[in-house]
Amino acid sequence: MKDETRVAVVGCGPAGLMAATVLSDAGLSVDIFDTKSSAGRKFLVAGRGGLNLTHSEQADAFAARYGNNAEIFRKLLADFSPDDLRAWLRELGVETFVGTSGRVFPKDASAHDILKTWIEILGKRGVVFHYRHRWQGFSKTGAPLFLPENNIPLEFPAKAVLLALGGASWPQTGSDGSWAALLAARDVHLEPFRPANCGIEVAWSEHFRTRFNGKPLKNLLLRCGDRQAIGDVVVTAHGLEGGPVYALSGVIRDLLKKGSPVPLLLDLKRDLPLERLKDKIARRCGKESFANFLRKTIHLTGPAYSLLREICSPEDLRDPTVLAECIKNLSIPVVNTRPLAEAISSAGGVAFAEVNTDFMLRKLPGVFVAGEMLDWEAPTGGYLLQGAFTTGHLAAQGLLKWLGPPGQSVKTPPDHFSPCNHNKFIGQSIL
Ligand SMILES: Cc1cc2nc3c(=O)[nH]c(=O)nc-3n(C[C@H](O)[C@H](O)[C@H](O)COP(=O)(O)OP(=O)(O)OC[C@H]3O[C@@H](n4cnc5c(N)ncnc54)[C@H](O)[C@@H]3O)c2cc1C
Repeated sequence: MKDETRVAVVGCGPAGLMAATVLSDAGLSVDIFDTKSSAGRKFLVAGRGGLNLTHSEQADAFAARYGNNAEIFRKLLADFSPDDLRAWLRELGVETFVGTSGRVFPKDASAHDILKTWIEILGKRGVVFHYRHRWQGFSKTGAPLFLPENNIPLEFPAKAVLLALGGASWPQTGSDGSWAALLAARDVHLEPFRPANCGIEVAWSEHFRTRFNGKPLKNLLLRCGDRQAIGDVVVTAHGLEGGPVYALSGVIRDLLKKGSPVPLLLDLKRDLPLERLKDKIARRCGKESFANFLRKTIHLTGPAYSLLREICSPEDLRDPTVLAECIKNLSIPVVNTRPLAEAISSAGGVAFAEVNTDFMLRKLPGVFVAGEMLDWEAPTGGYLLQGAFTTGHLAAQGLLKWLGPPGQSVKTPPDHFSPCNHNKFIGQSIL
């Protein structure tokens, strides 16, 4: 039987939809809101490049991907794991497979198919979708406030609220981070948004920029301090993009922020040890051009040779030993990271210290948060969606726990405006 308790989920991304799934499964009346005219826009964008839902690596390695928050995620992932996610997807009718890289993808379904089925199921369960409703904070009675399309503010009488408003990258998908000011005004501590999994800026010459924009550099190794990543990189008009760049972009961003030098080194021939490379270069006969020699003997193709010319001096290229060093450790002069709006994800948002183990904001009892709006970051590889699904699932369970068993009189929504209420709920911190 349907419980008459109404709860509001705000944000129709993976975290919010997962929360709505858990809450409606428990029999609650769920209303879900989004500022956009449809659900899951960033999820659909993620689907364009091959929807990488999660990863198959073992638990400790998986949790380590969350960096400073590895310990928190080790516990969270034990409660809603990548296997749990795959089992849930199977129930939804979506089979998954593990790719050669260990990444997990849907077998025969697109992001659009998954979203469509998911929304239909939620609709059949009675979840009410309110699109074009922008969350604007809380009313004087603590109810969530929305600005619908008709511009007449709506105060929604929810017994509890779960916010899953996303991070601040790709604002065109609806996740513009403007919610941060609303929570900061309620004394919730937020870490500033920063780009994560983003490209880097390099001040290319006009010639290199126009000639090689969009060209790939294949199978190289990128190193920054003790971190390294392997794969293909793409030259862009602004600098470099691609998996290895994204993997190191957080470290690069933090070094730039501190004003420290960025020791970003690119190995263009990662399969050839330095000494063998030196040998090969030393055997070059004088007649052949350097470009031809490097293409034929070292197999340096694409923009690789031009990249060497772009960064190294003519003297460096003439000296076989220095040239070999340049090929193995080409120092990339990073100027900046690409802007937040272009990044795949964002770091920053609600600090974990602000929520209890059930994802309830300690200063706003009855208000739960989940997904990328929390301050965590992880590399690409399925860790972002897994993080959103896991926190959405667990925050919804936290909300159920807070409401108590069905039939039990529900808690009165708190008055979030009253400063004396801010420290009323002394929950255990998730940290
Ligand atoms: C190009 C790209 C590719 C990606 N590929 C992958 C991938 O392959 N694998 C992976 O794991 N991750 C990937 N990601 C990241 C992944 O999509 C996100 O981490 C994930 O969508 C976050 O889920 P979320 O529910 O927390 O937030 P979001 O998906 O951002 O959803 C938040 C929702 O809240 C709504 N909202 C925001 N503010 C308000 C407001 N004030 N009022 C009402 N509604 C509001 C938004 O409209 C949005 O619908 C990719 C991201 C991008 C940009």
